[in-house]
Amino acid sequence: MANNIQAIRGMHDVLPDQTPLWQATEQTIREVLAAYGYSEIRLPIVEKTELFKRSIGEVTDIVEKEMYTFEDRNGDSLTLRPEGTAGCLRACLEHGLLHNQSHRLWYYGPMYRHERPQKGRYRQFIQLGVEAYGMAGPDIDAELILIMDRLWKKLGIRDKVTLQLNSLGTIDERLVYRNSLVSYFEQHLDKLDEDSLRRLKTNPLRILDTKNPAMQDVVAGAPELMAYLGAESLDHFRAITATLDDLGIAYAINTRLVRGLDYYSKTVFEWVTTELGSQGTVCAGGRYDTLIEQLGGKANYGIGFAMGMERLLALLETTTDGVATSSVDAYLVRTGAMAEQEGLRFSETLRNEIPSLKLQVNCGGGSFKSQFKKADKSGAKFAIILGDDEVSRAEVGIKFLRDEQEQQSLSQQAAIEFLQAHIGQKAI
Ligand code: ATP
Ligand code: MG
Repeated sequence: MANNIQAIRGMHDVLPDQTPLWQATEQTIREVLAAYGYSEIRLPIVEKTELFKRSIGEVTDIVEKEMYTFEDRNGDSLTLRPEGTAGCLRACLEHGLLHNQSHRLWYYGPMYRHERPQKGRYRQFIQLGVEAYGMAGPDIDAELILIMDRLWKKLGIRDKVTLQLNSLGTIDERLVYRNSLVSYFEQHLDKLDEDSLRRLKTNPLRILDTKNPAMQDVVAGAPELMAYLGAESLDHFRAITATLDDLGIAYAINTRLVRGLDYYSKTVFEWVTTELGSQGTVCAGGRYDTLIEQLGGKANYGIGFAMGMERLLALLETTTDGVATSSVDAYLVRTGAMAEQEGLRFSETLRNEIPSLKLQVNCGGGSFKSQFKKADKSGAKFAIILGDDEVSRAEVGIKFLRDEQEQQSLSQQAAIEFLQAHIGQKAI
């Protein structure tokens, strides 16, 4: 079968045994976002290339080497979205959502970056994005952190992630800092790799974001941006840390945190874990007040973050809570012409009576033995048994597939009550 067509490198399938954990996690995310009054926005996966160049920045990893860009049949340059902030803002500007209004939004879906695929780093990956517009902060900055704090707790992984915070200040503050950073790196040219030498000319702050282990020492000795911040930026930052202190949310200030996109100002943060090797950033974001003007809107405030779902799922899988639940509660076994008919009828009654029941009905016939094998494989807790004997007695059998308990014969009504009592527990 050497000719089978395979998925594109770095783009993977989520198979049925993995989807229950995805769905349960997505459900929890929706509940947490709803608890803070955030609304979903759905956006196209493809945008004009120009949108990403203008927002993310020409001299960033994403725009320089990671975008899936192509010409469509009209000759327009289009790009598969590498992130969601630009598209979300584009949509809100286009539909006039930012006129004297504030918005709390989220979106969920695939992003595309042509990176070297490895654990936790893919070419198609799913992000949850959360964005808030029209609020100067710092209270909204803190709210975004509270949302994630609550989500980690609900997912049972609060002890596996830590919060890193920094402030990038304003454009003017960064300009002054940039000069001293350049003179520092110019004294250490021999320690810079090829990318960093290039960035020294174009975008020196990006050097701090290097993933090259050989450069960690020279980066560690660089001047700190925090020392260049003015009173307003510092007050903003301190107001966030004061809120976090007040609510007992631990954080570490990481003065090297600059993030891989150009549009951030003031607050930036990352939620990191040590459990996933080098791809340890699960969720990251920050404030981007100048981006709205940059995309043609009236000056306004914006802040947001994105969480990588594959990394989150990998983290959940390191816990026992992350064990996937089955998509099936009960499997209906039926043999004999009468029982086939009655079984189908009863299955519809069950679905009417117990809307949360996940019921699979045996299709395609087979002996009791082969049907029980399928019941077992389905992951169901119970087999509901209908043979012609049961039908003539107006009963159904209930067999425990996971526990050592004796099989029961019940009237249909009693079977409904039994299943009602025994299923429907939530997954996470
Ligand atoms: P990294 O430093 O790991 O490259 P990034 O700074 O490029 O991340 P963002 O653009 O801020 O990441 O994206 C936010 C989150 O999306 C990341 O923290 C991560 O969880 C996830 N993410 C980013 N790129 C990938 C990828 N190629 N594969 C899987 N998840 C990703
Ligand atoms: Mg990256």
